[in-house]
Amino acid sequence: MNTNQDTAIWWIRRDLRLADNPALLAAAEHQRLIAVYIHEPDDELGAASAWWLHHSLLALQNTLCELGSNLILRQGQAHDVLDALIHEADVKAVYWNRQYSPAQRARDSQIKQTLRERGLRVESFNSHLIFEPWQNTRDRQPYKVFTPFWKACLKQGIDHTPSNAPTQLPPTPQLNSESMESLNLLPHIPWDRGMRSTWNIGEHAAWQQLQAFLSQHLHDYPEGRNRPAEPGSSRLSPHLAFGEISPRQIIYAVRAQQHAAPSTSDEAVRVFLSELGWREFGYHLLYHFPSSTHKPLNPRWDVLQWPEPDPAQWEAWTRGQTGIPLVDAGMRELWHTGWMHNRVRMNVASLLTKNMLIPWQHGERWFADTLVDFDLASNVQGWQWTAGCGADAAPYFRIFNPALQGEKFDPQGDYVRRWVPELARLPARWIHRPWEAPAQVLQAAGVLLGFTYPRPVVDLAVSRKRALEFFVALKQAPLLK
Ligand SMILES: Cc1cc2nc3c(=O)[nH]c(=O)nc-3n(C[C@H](O)[C@H](O)[C@H](O)COP(=O)(O)OP(=O)(O)OC[C@H]3O[C@@H](n4cnc5c(N)ncnc54)[C@H](O)[C@@H]3O)c2cc1C
Repeated sequence: MNTNQDTAIWWIRRDLRLADNPALLAAAEHQRLIAVYIHEPDDELGAASAWWLHHSLLALQNTLCELGSNLILRQGQAHDVLDALIHEADVKAVYWNRQYSPAQRARDSQIKQTLRERGLRVESFNSHLIFEPWQNTRDRQPYKVFTPFWKACLKQGIDHTPSNAPTQLPPTPQLNSESMESLNLLPHIPWDRGMRSTWNIGEHAAWQQLQAFLSQHLHDYPEGRNRPAEPGSSRLSPHLAFGEISPRQIIYAVRAQQHAAPSTSDEAVRVFLSELGWREFGYHLLYHFPSSTHKPLNPRWDVLQWPEPDPAQWEAWTRGQTGIPLVDAGMRELWHTGWMHNRVRMNVASLLTKNMLIPWQHGERWFADTLVDFDLASNVQGWQWTAGCGADAAPYFRIFNPALQGEKFDPQGDYVRRWVPELARLPARWIHRPWEAPAQVLQAAGVLLGFTYPRPVVDLAVSRKRALEFFVALKQAPLLK
């Protein structure tokens, strides 16, 4: 087809929204617009992310149709699909918003170069982050500590005015599109019931979630974010991961909320925005240390000779059957909803990497498959931080005690009762350490350890000691480079 009309492609990736979307805005300047999502065969999409993507694409398709456009779905290698579209619709320009994993960067720069050599206009933009990951450095060196990194970001100014969504879009040329079903993103066995009842997906839903958080929970965020039984954090992470909302839009809305409700404390805003800062920091590290996706950032870690992972412990961890209530609650919340509270993520990760001495990469891959908010930069950072080998990490001797953590952050045991119903009738005093409860208390609560609920697969004190002995090698290790 060659119509002599000026046609542009908006190559949709993790930017499934219309507002604050520079690639879409650029493409919408042309006479005809192809909004295409390309499903690549080697896109290692976890099962939970695939599920989210399916629904998010559907939501985007609806919005695009409302504005007179359409969503084109194609499968194949991105450069082949783009080539085909360029040929089919005589495309003059291609626009996308950047992604930052080492593989995505390599793919994108290759495509950009090839298309530019062929005379096409090709532009990429930042829509996923507040700053590009290479923007904030000290003497051209990347930061390895969060606080100075975030101070540098704040100094530069994190406030930007996001653009509104276009109110109408150019028409789409007549093109074939694959069906959503053919992308095969939904599970074959219907394990997604919990996720369906937990989430509303898409740009509109992200906005609603943000507004509810700002009006109901932001004021108490510094405390509320630590209590896993309560909706004290924003739960915007999957929306951010898929680009249904941008961090710049969130900051803009936070400022508007501060203006509308001056009682919102500066401290609450500071703490909340600094969490977006941790997200930025993860991308900064991923960009500057691409091998950190699979290798410890701290080179001292290379000396450790890890024992073979114990398959029974691994299985108990993945299934939420470790016999340690806070950990089991978290792993079951993850399985049911595709999300886990941040404090509990730290606890389950610490148990795996320290008490069980299973390398962090195993847990990282499990989360990649099961989290709806899976984000390579944040996930690697979270795992390396907890394991102790990341930038600005918890030291190796900081081993979370999930019983004490439960007592502190889930004092009534509501979180455990919700996700581990077999312990629901235990009094708060014992709910985080049922193995220490007197026999008559267990009996009255209908708990038979080893039958209705497992005994702990690791003894917290013994395994802590073992971990400390294992990590002692780090103290003596020379700093390898
Ligand atoms: C082992 C481990 C693995 C993790 N894996 C991921 C992951 O794959 N994807 C992911 O988005 N987050 C990950 N996190 C970070 C954090 O747990 C989640 O971002 C947070 O729980 C999301 O909930 P929320 O949206 O309510 O966060 P809020 O507390 O409301 O924070 C707002 C936003 O800030 C960002 N944020 C908050 N905390 C962190 C953090 N510690 N690191 C980076 N960004 C943060 C998120 O985008 C979040 O949506 C991981 C943390 C750990 C300890």
